Amino acid sequence: MFIDTHCHLTFPEYDADRATVIGNAKKAGVKQFICPGVDPFSSQKVIELAQKHPGVVFAAVGYHPYEAQHNPPVGDLPIHQAVAVGEIGLDYHQYKGEAAAGKKQAQKILFEEQLRLGRKHNKPVIMHCREAFEDFFPIYDTISVPGVIHCFSGGLQEIRMAKDRNLYIGLDGNCTYSKQLQTIIPGIPLSMILLETDAPYLTPIPHRGTRNEPKYIPLVAAEIARLQGIPISAVEEQTTKNAQSLFTLLSRKQ
Ligand SMILES: [Zn+2]
Ligand SMILES: [Zn+2]
Repeated sequence: MFIDTHCHLTFPEYDADRATVIGNAKKAGVKQFICPGVDPFSSQKVIELAQKHPGVVFAAVGYHPYEAQHNPPVGDLPIHQAVAVGEIGLDYHQYKGEAAAGKKQAQKILFEEQLRLGRKHNKPVIMHCREAFEDFFPIYDTISVPGVIHCFSGGLQEIRMAKDRNLYIGLDGNCTYSKQLQTIIPGIPLSMILLETDAPYLTPIPHRGTRNEPKYIPLVAAEIARLQGIPISAVEEQTTKNAQSLFTLLSRKQ
């Protein structure tokens, strides 16, 4: 079985057919799902979805760095019903016409507050880092909670830094078309890798241009297997073990 460790099944893209999407993924061998929140609304919705699908959908609650400008209250996150804090982190990508002022500082504060939440409640963290590694590790190191750098976009230097900290690396469907990812994947130990889709985004080849779904996880696994020269069953087995170990899903009903 596979686990999709990062999919946004609460997003409106699935309002019309959420149960079918989950059913189709299960048919493809993807049996468990970790759904992160990005804001106050989705962090409530992931809890409701997890309650509807016990042992299948697991909730992570958190505020995405894009939320930092709204000063969301970290104390309001329903942490007790979640398996992880996420997604949290830093995203310094500058969109056209967007003001940079104040953005980084607000994100750093929110990231640190949520790392502390994970530490306090003994929950792993799902971290997003885009164009921000220079600030990411220094902040992470002040609190240092078990976790994953999801949708990894760094290089081998960042892989080494993650390895030194026992962090996992989340890989997505963009590994089927990103030359940069294809270059580094042979150098990532399988014991560090988690599979994710980040659905509805990052749809893998050959489905690019359509909505992503957790049922495409085997395509991500196949690409990693190809790049590492190992059987897909080895990727399936080890990444599932990794996910169970980080999120402690083993004792739960499957
Ligand atoms: Zn993300
Ligand atoms: Zn995400």
